[in-house]
Formats: sequence, C-alpha cells, structure tokens
Amino acid sequence: ERVNVVPFFHHVLDRFEMNKQESIKIDRYIPRDSIFLWLDKDKIIQVIDNIMSNAMKYSPEPGTIRFRIMRERNRIKVSISDQGPGIAREKLDKIFERFYRADNARSRQLGGTGLGLAIAKEIIRAHHGQIWAESMEGKGTTVFFTLPLISRKRGG
Ligand code: ATP
Ligand code: MG
Repeated sequence: ERVNVVPFFHHVLDRFEMNKQESIKIDRYIPRDSIFLWLDKDKIIQVIDNIMSNAMKYSPEPGTIRFRIMRERNRIKVSISDQGPGIAREKLDKIFERFYRADNARSRQLGGTGLGLAIAKEIIRAHHGQIWAESMEGKGTTVFFTLPLISRKRGG
C-alpha cells in the first residue's frame, strides 16, 4: 500500500513512548515533508518493533535512542542508534542470522530467541531494501535499513 512514512513512523514511535521505561528517551529526526513509499505496514511495524526492542533491551538507563530518517535520491535510510554495549565487528553480520545471539555481556540474562533481526532482514529484502548494523564496542549500536522511494517513471 502507498504510505506517507512521516506520520506513519511518528505513530509507530508514539506506541513505544507509551510502553517504554521512563529513563529511556527516544529522539526523533524525521523530516516534515511527506515521503511516500510502497510498503506493507504491518511488516514494517514488525521490523521497527524488532530493532527498537533490541535498542531498549541493550540501552543503559538513563539512555537515549535516536531514530532518524534520511531521504536519499531514490530511497530512504532509517537508522536506530542506542548507547548500549555494542557488538564486536566480526559479529555484526551474524546478528542477522536465525538463532544467532552474540555473547555480549548482557545478552545471556536478557531473554530472546535470536530471531528478531533475521525476521527484519527477510521483510526488508522483500521490500527491496537493505539492512545492516554498525557498532563501536562500549559506545553503542546503530541498525540501518533502506526502503526504495516510489519512482515516478514506470517501466524501465
Ligand atoms: P529475539 O529478538 O528473538 O527476542 P534476540 O534479541 O536475541 O531475540 P535478535 O533481535 O535477532 O535476537 O538479535 C540477535 C543478537 O544480536 C542479540 O542476541 C544480541 O546479541 C545482538 N544485538 C542485537 N541488537 C543489539 C543491540 N542494539 N545492541 C547490542 N547487541 C545487539
Ligand atoms: Mg531482538
């Protein structure tokens, strides 16, 4: 369905605001102008839920999560950053594999099955986007995903 992602992402984040711990702040960097994308809303909500719940799970308290949308030439890039323990460089690709759970300090105590990011990857691939993570150990993690803009031209 054709969706203006500006109000859509605000709405999704509003739901997180209601459920999160008070000591975690969510900063939004979302452009004002409409951005129309072709997407499956329920599926993209699931992607954001999976990434945001990791960010909240690994955030220190107090902590800030930054949610950013960057408009590029033919796609948008969304980034979600936390100030958590980070992920070792050699594990950054593995976290998108099914059942993979990095042995970073807190992940053993913090529950989970290791499916969240694998599901997110599947959904983003189905939308012809990309998903990846960047991290600095001890500083935090940023998960990025892209979604193509609706192109004006049809055909080729
Ligand atoms: P589930 O999402 O199924 O409840 P999970 O959170 O362990 O379980 P994923 O969301 O796929 O699984 O994440 C895989 C692993 O990647 C996590 O176990 C954790 O080790 C690491 N990870 C993911 N996000 C972060 C983050 N923001 N900071 C630090 N480590 C992370
Ligand atoms: Mg998870």
